[in-house]
Amino acid sequence: MHQLHPIAALATAPGIGAIAVIRVSGEGAIALTDKAFRGKRLVGQPGHTAHFGTFRHADRGNEPGSVIDEVLVTVFRSPHSFTKEDVVEISCHGSEYIVRQILTRLTELGAQLARPGEFTQRAFLNGQFDLVQAEAVADVIAADSAASHRAALSQLRGGFSKRLKDLRQQLIDFVALVELELDFGEEDVEFAKRDQLRRLMTNIQGVIRPLIESFAAGNVIKNGVPTVIIGKPNAGKSTLLNALLNEEKAIVSDIPGTTRDVIEDELFIDGVRFRLIDTAGLRDTTDTIEAIGVARTRQQIEKAALVVYLFDGQSTTPEELREMIAELDESGKPYILVGNKADLITLHQQAAVTDAITKAGGRPDGIHEVPPILWISAKNAQIDELKSTLSAQVRTNGAMQTGSAVVTNARHLQHLTATDEALARAVAAVDAGTSADWIAMDLRIALRELGELTGEVTTDDLLESIFSRFCIGK
Ligand code: GDP
Repeated sequence: MHQLHPIAALATAPGIGAIAVIRVSGEGAIALTDKAFRGKRLVGQPGHTAHFGTFRHADRGNEPGSVIDEVLVTVFRSPHSFTKEDVVEISCHGSEYIVRQILTRLTELGAQLARPGEFTQRAFLNGQFDLVQAEAVADVIAADSAASHRAALSQLRGGFSKRLKDLRQQLIDFVALVELELDFGEEDVEFAKRDQLRRLMTNIQGVIRPLIESFAAGNVIKNGVPTVIIGKPNAGKSTLLNALLNEEKAIVSDIPGTTRDVIEDELFIDGVRFRLIDTAGLRDTTDTIEAIGVARTRQQIEKAALVVYLFDGQSTTPEELREMIAELDESGKPYILVGNKADLITLHQQAAVTDAITKAGGRPDGIHEVPPILWISAKNAQIDELKSTLSAQVRTNGAMQTGSAVVTNARHLQHLTATDEALARAVAAVDAGTSADWIAMDLRIALRELGELTGEVTTDDLLESIFSRFCIGK
């Protein structure tokens, strides 16, 4: 196993905590740590063992070095470690002062301070995992919802990249054959069976196209579902937002039209992240300031992946509701109809509203079902049903189901799309009976793009840009 010079960094979050872990990796990491450690001799210890002792400053003449801290040292032996190098993890008390002292002592002994992502980069270079998985390490750390954690973890475990690597290998064999044909110039030879090549290419497309399509959903998992709450002024949007966020974020007032600013906030329901966008009321209006709000609301619907239409159950007419339903239908966005102020009206009245829009045949074409109305009281925070409907809306989306591979990384999307385009051109070329050199050109592009995706083809620039985004110590 290739081992580089020893590097050291704090692996846990900086700041004060019960314990902090400092990681040392590289050639001689164990012997180096041993020089500052009093307890058992570390160099003789097998991997995956932990040892209690003291970590010390340098000896002064005959005086043994003073104690920096009591520590627990875990030894990992190459290749059975995260980086596949010799690794030592020093658990000390979680004080910034102690951490600094230990790191200083380690550098005196020859370790270098690690750059951001350098541990993961070494793990990648030593074949611990491919590039997609290496990037997933960063995502697993950054994941702050159950869903994004699940997506990152599935990529870390190999996700889609192993399958793509196998297919790429098969493609390499074909490219070799096609290029061999080129060597024969004018002679009419065909080493690469066109039908087999075509089948392989469409196979690969069959794998990457769902991945490309998963990006929208994957992005939602990682960055949250952009959700907009719309409704007329005074419908109770700010109150609902507050109830959802459980804190006073938006201005609540009795004066219609006062919530003009767009407020964005985040909310977790059943491990799904929602990005809530509160807007001014959506209605036809001549008021210019309000009109800006309305135009903006339409833009918000455009940007949103999910729309909550909130109406005042007391004062909204069936006509208004039908107009709104028509507009929402037209937008093509999934939406939830929510009647507010349920505390002020009877169940009977609630049923009458539902009846009115259903009977009036809100749908002249009769094709769509009228979506059910959900009744809430934003003021009394009776919103549990709305919350579960929100999370159900997202969960019915295929990509939220565990197990299916999801692309969450823009870099991956870019390579997948470029691969797909190159393959589409190559397939068309095969179908048109085009000469081998054209086919070979697109096949080479596809190979390079796939290779860059998984890290089989890398440039220093690419590695630099990926790993520098990691935090130090990772
Ligand atoms: P917005 O203009 O849509 O943001 O509406 P607000 O959130 O500012 O609410 C307008 C008024 O309706 C405020 O006085 C709220 O207290 C009141 N309100 C909101 N939700 C409810 C509710 O569920 N029941 C009752 N009775 N009043 C509510």
